[in-house]
Amino acid sequence: MTASFSNLSLAEPLSRAVAEMGYESMTPIQAQAIPVVLTGKDVMGAAQTGTGKTAAFSLPLLQRLLKHENASTSPARHPVRALVLLPTRELADQVAQQVKLYAKYTNLRSAVVFGGMDMKPQTLELKRGVEVLVATPGRLLDHIEAKNAVLNQVEYVVLDEADRMLDIGFLPDLQRILSYLPKQRTTLLFSATFSPEIKRLAGSYLNDPVTIEVARPNETASTVEQHFYSVNDDDKRRALHQIVRQRGLSQAFVFVNSKLGCARLARSLEREGLKTTALHGDKSQDERLKALDAFKKGEVDLLVATDVAARGLDIKDVPAVFNFDVPFNAEDYVHRIGRTGRAGASGLAVTFVSGSDGRLVADLEKLLKKKIDIEAIEYEEDKPRGRINDGRRAWREAGELGDPRDVLDAPPVEREQRAPRPQREFRAPAASRDPFFDQPYQPPATDAAPAWESGPRLSNRISANIKPKRKVAALFKPEA
Ligand code: AMP
Repeated sequence: MTASFSNLSLAEPLSRAVAEMGYESMTPIQAQAIPVVLTGKDVMGAAQTGTGKTAAFSLPLLQRLLKHENASTSPARHPVRALVLLPTRELADQVAQQVKLYAKYTNLRSAVVFGGMDMKPQTLELKRGVEVLVATPGRLLDHIEAKNAVLNQVEYVVLDEADRMLDIGFLPDLQRILSYLPKQRTTLLFSATFSPEIKRLAGSYLNDPVTIEVARPNETASTVEQHFYSVNDDDKRRALHQIVRQRGLSQAFVFVNSKLGCARLARSLEREGLKTTALHGDKSQDERLKALDAFKKGEVDLLVATDVAARGLDIKDVPAVFNFDVPFNAEDYVHRIGRTGRAGASGLAVTFVSGSDGRLVADLEKLLKKKIDIEAIEYEEDKPRGRINDGRRAWREAGELGDPRDVLDAPPVEREQRAPRPQREFRAPAASRDPFFDQPYQPPATDAAPAWESGPRLSNRISANIKPKRKVAALFKPEA
């Protein structure tokens, strides 16, 4: 059954904005959360980004704030009434953009503040007065300390992507921020999972919340075609090129486990002719927003990202997601592949499994509650090559991906280093599925002393190189 927005009796300016967004019916989180938030109750919602949760909390908040709406230019008439906290700058930016769209026909003002950007324009906006403030915790504290943001009239606070905020270590910042807010308020907490830490946070700051859970957090979309390929670390880029080509993929997300790996991989893929951009925590805010924008506009083919940087990005309909590395945290697999196959569209999720990933795959199997079938990858034949440059050409022709200048303009030494590895005569071995590696550690069965304790024992455990102290004869006569 689909629920329509018209059942909600939203105020006209809000329904007009929703209609303009082209939403036909409510998503499950909206259908469940909006009526509850409209009553002013606290909510603890399990929902991932992409489920429509921003509208699920923004629309009822805006509706309830309409009673404060006014056209006055005085900042005093526009105190912060709703605070939305998010873990990353990109998410904050995304949510703020949506809030602006929903509020566009009202006189309610909204603003966003996050780190990595000049404080001044944010300060000016805050000083003019805003009803809805979207923020990352660190930068908000800077503004609170600078007395740019006064939060004593906040009626609603939203802790969005709360699990990620805790993962990043924002708990102390959150506690400080929450201490500035009036006790009498509505608190909404959204999280992909309800871990014990999240439950503790909710226990401390939510008042008899209504729990809303829309999809099992660990479920992966059934529209996503998932493949796990056994790929040697050195062959992963080659495998990626091949799959992109064979599947005719226009765009994809490529996930890696480290910031360093992210930057390196993006550079290599770019050199190999794929328009690639990287998204990781060491990039400046400006660079990250530009990268995201370029991907959204289709100006780049591949977005190489770390989990923290990519979590919750509102990029829909990405045809494919590559897990260049099996994620360390099995739950990140679900988040990663949630970028594809959204809203009924079909998607492809490819994971490269190397020989040392046995335990991570076992963790994934536990989470997904199914056996993962690891496939061997059939590499396309390369042409025979005599010299490295010939090899490069063969690679290029097979993939039509490389830029000839890449090789021809490079000085000789660099040329060799940058040329692709010649095809080796082997098939990637199946990933380690030897049950031995999945067993917990078992102590040896014998009682024998460990090696370092066997062998000749040194008297009093003193090294042979240290001479024992000589006994010294008493120099003093004992007292009579
Ligand atoms: P969110 O999970 O809030 O980040 O939303 C993900 C995307 O879904 C955003 O681009 C929204 O504009 C879109 N969206 C939200 N609600 C609806 C809806 N009821 N119908 C269609 N799209 C929606």
